[in-house]
Amino acid sequence: MISQDMVKLGTARSVIRDIFEFGMQRAQVVGEENVLDFSIGNPSVPAPKEVQDAIKDIIAELPPKAYHSYTSSAGDNNTRTAIAENLNKRFGTDYTLNNIFMTCGAAASLNICFKAMITDEANEIIVQAPFFPEYKFFIEAHGGKMVLLDPPEDLTIDIDALEKAITKKTKAVLLNSPNNPSGVIYPKENLEAAAKIIKAKSEEFGQPIYIISDEPYRELVYTDEEVAHIPNLYDNTVICYSWSKSLSLPGERIGYILVPNKVENYQELYAAVGGAARILGYVCAPSLFQRVITRCIDVPADLEVYKKNRDILYNNLTKMGYKVAKPGGAFYLFIQAPNLDADEFCERAKKYDLLMVPGAGFGAKDYMRLSYCVDTEKIEKAVPIFEKLLAEYK
Ligand code: PLP
Repeated sequence: MISQDMVKLGTARSVIRDIFEFGMQRAQVVGEENVLDFSIGNPSVPAPKEVQDAIKDIIAELPPKAYHSYTSSAGDNNTRTAIAENLNKRFGTDYTLNNIFMTCGAAASLNICFKAMITDEANEIIVQAPFFPEYKFFIEAHGGKMVLLDPPEDLTIDIDALEKAITKKTKAVLLNSPNNPSGVIYPKENLEAAAKIIKAKSEEFGQPIYIISDEPYRELVYTDEEVAHIPNLYDNTVICYSWSKSLSLPGERIGYILVPNKVENYQELYAAVGGAARILGYVCAPSLFQRVITRCIDVPADLEVYKKNRDILYNNLTKMGYKVAKPGGAFYLFIQAPNLDADEFCERAKKYDLLMVPGAGFGAKDYMRLSYCVDTEKIEKAVPIFEKLLAEYK
């Protein structure tokens, strides 16, 4: 007998994948240039030149053993030190390599954290919708239960709902800002209010409640809004980071977990992170890309195309009368369907070969997600189609 849960996960494609496949089929019929596929969050901007240069230099300068070998499971010391120093410079912290555990991207970081934290006694992870749908599968795979908070009007953290949702079973609150799918950056005051509630509940129940901050979009910010460094607001915070989006390296699987010293039971939690990474079979993060990151730690994300796409879409759609979440970061626009039925709207948009993901899977069924990490030409083609679609509802 084979695990039927895994059979289900391995065969049922996500809605996003379904739409993406549909787009590929349509491309064969009408031509790739005529399919406006905004379904998937695959960075369209190539990795910066510094990354290519670093790869070439490492290969030219070092013997293969140096970049093909296992590193220690926590990662290369120089890489971890470079990350700690970069964070210290930006956020006024005092991290060292002992606070950093290198991983195979944010998905690995999250799975490791859930495996490390979830126990029989406390197994609920609170997630604010809209949310990245994979969270549910990750949490459940490690014996946890996802407790979902419905999205408030402004798509930030619903503080009242959070307060009601925290129980003795709560192990962590998972936050993601800038957010996938909404692009919303949670304001600092909103995070402070959340931190206050979590701290009070943690004291009331006499146990740590962690914030897990999932931050693959931290560097993708288009406004002067601050992306707060949550450990500076709440001590029991761990960060799951990745260069998949900021340096356009999703296929290279490189990221880290930050466990600050001030986290309660820091040593035990850091050890459990190592244990979880071990039994999940990660062994170590990719060796070559750890070295690349050491050399590219200060390379900024290339935001030009994403910002241009975001501005064209946001300005035009709001002018037409669409309700759009204020997109401070990431590369997603979350648009409310004019008929409040995003399934129907997305189906209708397909006749123009305009493909978006309905929001039900993200926990917001009247919204749809548009990924604007595509060529600007496609964004420009989409604008008049949005106008036509809106007219169909009038
Ligand atoms: N978390 C969020 C919110 C994401 O959007 C993604 C990928 O799209 C991930 C985690 C996983 O990213 P990674 O490629 O680093 O595993």
